[in-house]
Amino acid sequence: MKKVLIIEDEPNIRELVLYNLGANGYEGIGADDGILGITLVHTEKPDLILLDIMLPGKNGYDICRELRGEGNKTPIIMLSAKNDEIDKVLGLEFGADDYISKPFGIRELIARINAVLRRYDDQKPDDQTVVIEDLVISVERHEVSINGKIVEFTLKEFDLICFLAKNRGLVFTRDQLLDKVWGIDYAGETRTVDVHIRYIRRKLGLDENENKYIQTIRGKGYKMI
Ligand code: CA
Repeated sequence: MKKVLIIEDEPNIRELVLYNLGANGYEGIGADDGILGITLVHTEKPDLILLDIMLPGKNGYDICRELRGEGNKTPIIMLSAKNDEIDKVLGLEFGADDYISKPFGIRELIARINAVLRRYDDQKPDDQTVVIEDLVISVERHEVSINGKIVEFTLKEFDLICFLAKNRGLVFTRDQLLDKVWGIDYAGETRTVDVHIRYIRRKLGLDENENKYIQTIRGKGYKMI
């Protein structure tokens, strides 16, 4: 369940929004001033922040700037009573993701929240990190390490270990691996796969036939455990 923090000092609006967040499948939490709001961002780690501009303690612009300044990328939708362009521009310049002016309809607000979260999820890098005991494969960072030490792989070795890691538990034949990793047009032999598996195992400090991490499935192919 996605968590939405609303930082809003007007109790009626805050309560109405919290109620409707709950009714729309979100976990809502509320703060009635800026200082508490920042604290809750740190402790509760919400997925999205609804941020009023005029707030006691710390105003919405400062909160926005402060969070972005510390590298916090939580999506923020600014709420403002003033429906003018200046607020809009300022809000977005300080790093907000969207803006909605009061009074707003609940349906519109929920639609904006859904849209911002969807956009945010789409942009999120494909951060796939596979951890098998002391082996860590970071697909995004293009890095494999064992016991914290980086292992140097050739491009194809890396592609192969990544492909198996992304599809952990599934068995692939040598032909399938050639198609997936080397490409359908690759004219090489299935032996190529075996050779690369051997190199990978060696670089991981294993015996060539050792079934740790990558298993040889007799008569079928390979899988990552
Ligand atoms: Ca206010």
